[in-house]
Amino acid sequence: MFIANWKMNGSQSMLSDWLEGVGKTLDKSLQKQCLLCPPVCFLSEASQLISKYKLNISLGAQNIDPSSFSPITGGIDGAMLRSIGSEFVIIGHSERRDIFKERDSLLLEKLKSASEDGLKVIFCIGESLKEKEENQTAKVLKQQLQIVKNAELNEFMIAYEPVWAIGSGTAANIDYINKVHREISDEVSSYQKEGFLGVSYGGSVDSSSSKDILLIKGVQGLLIGGASLQYQEFCNIVLSNN
Ligand code: PEP
Repeated sequence: MFIANWKMNGSQSMLSDWLEGVGKTLDKSLQKQCLLCPPVCFLSEASQLISKYKLNISLGAQNIDPSSFSPITGGIDGAMLRSIGSEFVIIGHSERRDIFKERDSLLLEKLKSASEDGLKVIFCIGESLKEKEENQTAKVLKQQLQIVKNAELNEFMIAYEPVWAIGSGTAANIDYINKVHREISDEVSSYQKEGFLGVSYGGSVDSSSSKDILLIKGVQGLLIGGASLQYQEFCNIVLSNN
């Protein structure tokens, strides 16, 4: 799966150019592997454009508010996301953990809500540079995965995103990704959850690094931030998978 995480970027014209461009560049079977996660205000229009251009691309939201918090000013719950075309939701991204101080108790509520509202989940985990340097990576990731172990989930993918690699311009090295993905896969497989879709890598992936990362056996997808904003670069990443 190729997940385009636009973060707080984009506009209506960019959305339409991007979808049209991806539609012309990738055939239907490659489109089927693509998940676009634009800012929530563009989801409805994205869904309409996908129908209009007869595309095979899925949509996801970048955040969800637990329905148990209702009513909350500014809140958007899973049923609302579903109603505007979202099939997936990203939960646990390091930027939200860091800036909005999203802790396990809140993330567990979000996982529960996503499941109740029939959304599939991209659950992000990753260690900080300090944790990596202190050889704490395996321990930290296992800890972050505990709420996945305890939650009832529909289909879900784990996105391994080393925090120090996100937005840095340099992806983690192949041996490191290989080792960590194996550890994550073993851990999540031991939970015996039927909906487990595998482990994606995210952190400064572009078309110069994607091919080698995709060759790693334990990598079942890529979560792409900055490099997903230009449709040509996003398509180059998808096309590097052969
Ligand atoms: C991200 O924010 O999830 C991400 C992977 O960003 P980038 O590709 O820009 O490092």
